[in-house]
Amino acid sequence: MNSRDSKQNIIHKLKSYIADKSMEYLSVKDEMVLLNARRVFYVSALTMITNIVAIILVSFKNLSNNISTEVEWQTWLKISHYTVFSIMGLIGILSKLLRRKKNIGLLVTLQYMTIFIVLGFGIIVACIDQMISKNIIAFLIVCTMIGAVFLLRPLFAVITYMASYVVLFIGLGLAQTNTAILLSNRVNGIAAVAIGICLSIISWKSASAHIQQKRHIAAQQKELEEKNEVLEYLAFCDPMTSLCNRRRGEELIKQEISSMSRYGYDSSILLIDIDHFKYFNDTYGHPVGDAVIKEVTFLLKKNVRDSDVVARWGGEEFLILLTHVSITEAKEIAEKLREIIEEHILIVSEKELNTTISIGVAQIKAERNDALEIAYKEADKALYKAKESGRNRVVVAAEDEKLALASIHIEWRREWESGNREIDDHHKVLLELGNALIHMGLSETDQEKMLIQLHLLINHMKKHFSYEEELLKIANYPNYEQHKEIHSELLEETLKLRESYFKGELKASAL
Ligand code: GH3
Ligand code: MG
Ligand code: MG
Repeated sequence: MNSRDSKQNIIHKLKSYIADKSMEYLSVKDEMVLLNARRVFYVSALTMITNIVAIILVSFKNLSNNISTEVEWQTWLKISHYTVFSIMGLIGILSKLLRRKKNIGLLVTLQYMTIFIVLGFGIIVACIDQMISKNIIAFLIVCTMIGAVFLLRPLFAVITYMASYVVLFIGLGLAQTNTAILLSNRVNGIAAVAIGICLSIISWKSASAHIQQKRHIAAQQKELEEKNEVLEYLAFCDPMTSLCNRRRGEELIKQEISSMSRYGYDSSILLIDIDHFKYFNDTYGHPVGDAVIKEVTFLLKKNVRDSDVVARWGGEEFLILLTHVSITEAKEIAEKLREIIEEHILIVSEKELNTTISIGVAQIKAERNDALEIAYKEADKALYKAKESGRNRVVVAAEDEKLALASIHIEWRREWESGNREIDDHHKVLLELGNALIHMGLSETDQEKMLIQLHLLINHMKKHFSYEEELLKIANYPNYEQHKEIHSELLEETLKLRESYFKGELKASAL
């Protein structure tokens, strides 16, 4: 590598260093200005306090024999303190106002003004002090204060301190006649400037690093929050339909159940399944099947209230939670949804398709611990019934149950006829009494009514058994004793069952 290359290399590195630093400066500039603006206020307040203390001390100083230089020193010092006190008061007020208005441009100007005034004040006091002392402590103090308090761009700090040193150099030349002291003060001035520059660079670098770090943490936090949102979405939403998934649906129903038990109102669920959905997949392919699911989702969402929850429960199965809706109203809503889907023409891949849905409706019984499981089971059973009875229909769980209860009825059969009309009539009455007892047991009739019905049954059994036994005895029936034994066992068993039911050991349905 020749000397020209190495020179160019150095220039290149220098250029990229300057570009980096400029970028860094631009990225933190505004925040630094705002930080400095707050500090301008405190510096102005601190300087004003110093001014007052200095004025008081200087005013009450006993001057030795009223020497004219001391009087002159006292006067100039007081004038400069009064002047700076007034200017700093103005700067303090301005900084408050500008910060409130967030006027960055004027805040920057104010910040530079403060720095120049404080440094200038230090130089003036140091020069005035030359009348009676041999030091430049005032200049050292302001250099240290500016370096420690203000956040100055390193390049600006170097130029400002150098310029202030030139002014001090000239000022001291005018104020100090003793050449040895002059030289000593000028050398000390360099030290003061060096301290100021070092402090400025350290303050700037640490503030800049702090800002960058804060930004980095904020960016990482934002990224984390975004990732969490995505994860939450994936955990609770179905990506294809954007509906909440089964897990989230169950959570929302549980929340609804606790709200229902607190405020005591009705809510219902609809379990919906697309009829013969496999047909779409098998005939037109899965993408068409997907489009059908999306279209049905859209229609369901559009036709329920925003406060209702529509969840994708499984493949082509949906669950709708209808809040503040009784089972009767839920049935009407389900019927409306069924009709809407039935009448809607799905246009998928330029094909006009029709579909239907079957719906199981159930009421949520909030007072039960397993309310969700029960409601779901009932709705599922009702949906199954809807499918079984031909699809494209709504079945309400409670109605379905009642229907089932009503349908349990033991009919008299011809093969049971004995040849004796009276005995057959007795048997038929027994059957009716038994049927009534089954119906009452399954429909949760209260215990008192059940016991009356049992009493009627047992009385009839006794009456019938004694009548039958009398007939069998007259007829010399060969198995008379055996038959009598069966009667008494049956009666004993029935009485035992009544006893258990009465004690609460046996449920009505089991009885
Ligand atoms: P039924 O009237 O008895 O409900 O008949 P069906 O054909 O709708 O019911 P079945 O449960 O037999 O078929 C449902 C099919 O839905 C089976 C499954 O492959 C398909 N499926 C489930 N999820 C999706 C999905 O996200 N997209 C598509 N295209 N098909 C799905
Ligand atoms: Mg289906
Ligand atoms: Mg299904």
